[in-house]
Amino acid sequence: MTAMQILYWLAVLGVFSGLFWLGSSKGVTLWVRVLTALVVGILFGFVFGDLVESTKWVGDLFVRLIRMLVVPLIFTTLVAGLLSMGDPKKLGSIGGKAMALYMMTTAIAICIGLFLGVLFQPGVGVELATVSTREIQPAADVVERFLGIIPTNPVAALAEGDVLAIIVFALLFGTGIVMAGEKGRAVGDAISAAAEAMLKVAHIVMELAPYGVFALVAWVAGTLGTETIFKLLTLVVVVYTACILHAGLVYGGLIKVLLKLPAVRFFRGIIDAQAVAYSTASSSATLPVTMTCVEENLGVKQSVASSVLPLGATINMDGTALYLGVVAVFSAQAFGIDLVAMDYVMIAVTVTLASIGTAGVPSASLFLLSTILPVIGISVEQTALIVGLILPIDRILDMARTAVNVSGDAAVAVVVAKLEGELDEDKFREVAAV
Ligand code: ASP
Repeated sequence: MTAMQILYWLAVLGVFSGLFWLGSSKGVTLWVRVLTALVVGILFGFVFGDLVESTKWVGDLFVRLIRMLVVPLIFTTLVAGLLSMGDPKKLGSIGGKAMALYMMTTAIAICIGLFLGVLFQPGVGVELATVSTREIQPAADVVERFLGIIPTNPVAALAEGDVLAIIVFALLFGTGIVMAGEKGRAVGDAISAAAEAMLKVAHIVMELAPYGVFALVAWVAGTLGTETIFKLLTLVVVVYTACILHAGLVYGGLIKVLLKLPAVRFFRGIIDAQAVAYSTASSSATLPVTMTCVEENLGVKQSVASSVLPLGATINMDGTALYLGVVAVFSAQAFGIDLVAMDYVMIAVTVTLASIGTAGVPSASLFLLSTILPVIGISVEQTALIVGLILPIDRILDMARTAVNVSGDAAVAVVVAKLEGELDEDKFREVAAV
């Protein structure tokens, strides 16, 4: 170990002890600790550079722990949520409203992405000559994806963490329990009890969030190619601006104008989920955190949170949609292609489909560019160039779009809960306490 490595580890131990002390002795709320860890982590990355590689495992450990929760949490809370609804028909109304809101917010996201892309022209003058191409995989077959929603073997779906298939099975199973009446009660009670226990496990894991978030953001900040960032600075600024605008205007607007509730409370209530999404760049992994935030900080009842959020984590990706819109315009500018009105419509349609089909894992959407760029006349080779150009900095773009993806799911859950009379408004307004 070099002196620098020893110094780094001592500094990290200092930060971890500080975070622990804030929580245990000072009783500082989790979101403040998570946010502190995020800021300190970024500073550490810039100060210590490559040394941050040695603590990345702490972040990976945290990601494994939250991913461990995803399948049992979705299954048990979805069945328990359905049982608590009383009337399974209510599910149709919840699902319909959620889908409509998901589509609407995604459409706005694409418009914001396209608009800012055209306004700031991030692709004009981009140097592509020195970029090496990246292999891109062909798009998955749509019919196959659709059929895959029905699991032929639910146990395999659970084992593979196939969220949509788990949702379908859990909903049918929950409906079966209701239909079985008295005879099904025992299993219903057992699953509801398991859901309670899983939420407690989520609490335990979330106590480790500050350490995981610290290690992950330090790793990103310390290993990022700053040179590439400067080359693509306009793209980074446009994507971040679009993300902030979308979250502030659309989610803030929905909460404030439509629901007449304080938007600040909403953002404060989901800050843990945003920080975890930002540091992990995976909305699937963040799902357990989103669920606990939305239920416990924002007062959304389990019946809504357990159905709307897993669906959203899989198909609703506003941050991804706006990012893909910006990148499509960026690519056209880089290759000197003039876009006409019809091109924007085509981009919007394919981006909507791509954002639905994107998996909630890091960099998933970057590799879906192969399904979008051809509609505006960009060849496979050119697409591979664009992917090669963006890949080195995709993580920082991914962090922002994932935070927006997760915020969008939470906003829709709050709106649906309010419309369905399943929102505990007192709890929502309480969120302030630090
Ligand atoms: N990383 C994003 C997510 O998990 C998906 C994407 O690549 O846009 O939400």
